[in-house]
This record gives sequence, C-alpha cells and structure tokens, in this order.
Amino acid sequence: MAFQLLTASNMGFCQGVRRAVERVMGVAEHETGVETLGALVHNREVQSRLEHCGVRAVDSVEDITGETVVISAHGVSPTVIDAIKTRGINIINTTCPYVSRAQQAALKLYEAGFFVIVFGDANHVEVKGILGWVGGEGIATVNVAELIQAIGSPAKLGIVSQTTQIPSRFALFVADLINSDLFRDAEIRIVDTICHDSRRRQKETLEMAGQCDLVFVIGGRHSANTRHLKEMCAAVADTRLIETADEIDPCTLAGKNKVGVTAGASTDDETIQHVINRLRDLGGA
Ligand code: SF4
Repeated sequence: MAFQLLTASNMGFCQGVRRAVERVMGVAEHETGVETLGALVHNREVQSRLEHCGVRAVDSVEDITGETVVISAHGVSPTVIDAIKTRGINIINTTCPYVSRAQQAALKLYEAGFFVIVFGDANHVEVKGILGWVGGEGIATVNVAELIQAIGSPAKLGIVSQTTQIPSRFALFVADLINSDLFRDAEIRIVDTICHDSRRRQKETLEMAGQCDLVFVIGGRHSANTRHLKEMCAAVADTRLIETADEIDPCTLAGKNKVGVTAGASTDDETIQHVINRLRDLGGA
C-alpha cells in the first residue's frame, strides 16, 4: 500500500515541557536521587527515560526522600510550595510561564473579590494547582449547568481556562454562562489563559487533519493536550491515539491516501521519529 504522509508543522514537546525535561536531565547528570513531585510529563516513554537517568517521581510531599524536588511544568498550589519549604527541601521549579500566568490571573481575580471558575478538568494536576492559588474557593468545570448547581449565582464571576483547552470550547462555555439567566446581573471578568503554544499547535493540527483520511495522534492517554488534539482531529478525519509506533495497526492504513501525524506536547522527538519511520516502512512517502 502507498499513501502520502503529512506531518503537523508543530508537534511534540512544547516550550514548557522541553524546558522542564532539559532542566531535570541537566540536574540528573551531576546529582543522584533527583525526585519530581508527580510525573514530570504525562507520557510513559518519557517517564521511563527519566527513570533510566535516575529521576524518580513521588506522589506527595511526604514521600520526598532527598534534599531537592522538582515541580513539574503543570505547577502546584502555594500550599504545596510551603509544605516543601517547611520540610527544608530545595525546590527546582519548572512551572511553565503560561501556567504561572493562569495562576496569577486566578489570584488577582480572587483578590478582587471574584468567585473563580477554571474552565477545565477538575482532576487535572494543573487545574488543581490553579485552584490552590484561590484558597481552594473556586471551581473547575467545563459545563455551565453543573456550575449553576454548584455555586448558585455569585455577584462577581472571574473565569480563566486550563492552558491546553480548545479555544472554541472556552468561547462557547463563556457564551453559555453569559446567556444564563442566573448570571444576568453578575459582573463577569474573563481572562483567556489558553497557552499560545497549545493554540498554535491545535490550529496547525486541524489544518493538517482536514486534508487527511487518517490521523495518528501520538501521546500519553493521560495527557490532556493529546486528548484534545485527538478530539479535534476526530471531528474531521478517522483518528487514532497511539503512545508508540508498535500500536500502529497496518490494517487501518488500507485504502487511505493521506495519513497525518501529530503529537501532544509531552511526546518526545524519538517517539515521533519511530512512528514516522514505521509509517514510511508501511508505504508512506
Ligand atoms: S502546553 Fe503550554 S502551558 Fe502547558 S507546558 Fe506546554 S507551553 Fe506550557
């Protein structure tokens, strides 16, 4: 079988993840027992490479055994930072500047008396971190009906977004909220905290997917931005989320003329290259 192979012009490690991984790898070169608070990257391949270099992920502040801990690009709440400092542990903070911007936007809204809403996945570590900057008094949701049930109708509502959300969905959420009778008299302040890198990647991926019969999105199944890329591609083309080249089923390529490849922000260059090589072996050019 022969097919045309298209690749997204912007894929794989985003600025924030690349910066975090390079920093940790640099530290691991001359220090042993480097620990990260939670996974540094939501990608099993990258995590196992980090483990190979002696970097260990711990689940909580109580589990830290060394003198230094790394905070991932997703960031944490000030309470967590204080808990680490109280234990006398040094911090290597790789919080992405776009995430810090979202945290600070939420804090400013909170300090100005707004009830803070984070448009995002309440279980995602970045979102939990952002909510930590508003004293745990805000809420994370992607659903206005759910929001109304949970918070009633505060007089001042401040809205930020998880950095990797899809911009059109954020806009719809805000429109639904503004159109809701319950918030008619509220003062609503919106800060668009979707990261520029993620926004550009989504736009370019969608343009590529629109030309394809089949798209492979490479990334961890627990990675929020990878799942968002998959959802966007699936709206315009047959789409498969894969973590490694081994997951490519040659049968899916039968009858396809244009096959696209994109990757989430936590997918490393090596994994992407393996996928491209395998697709070339299977007839891609
Ligand atoms: S996706 Fe954006 S916000 Fe998240 S780590 Fe990457 S650059 Fe930072």
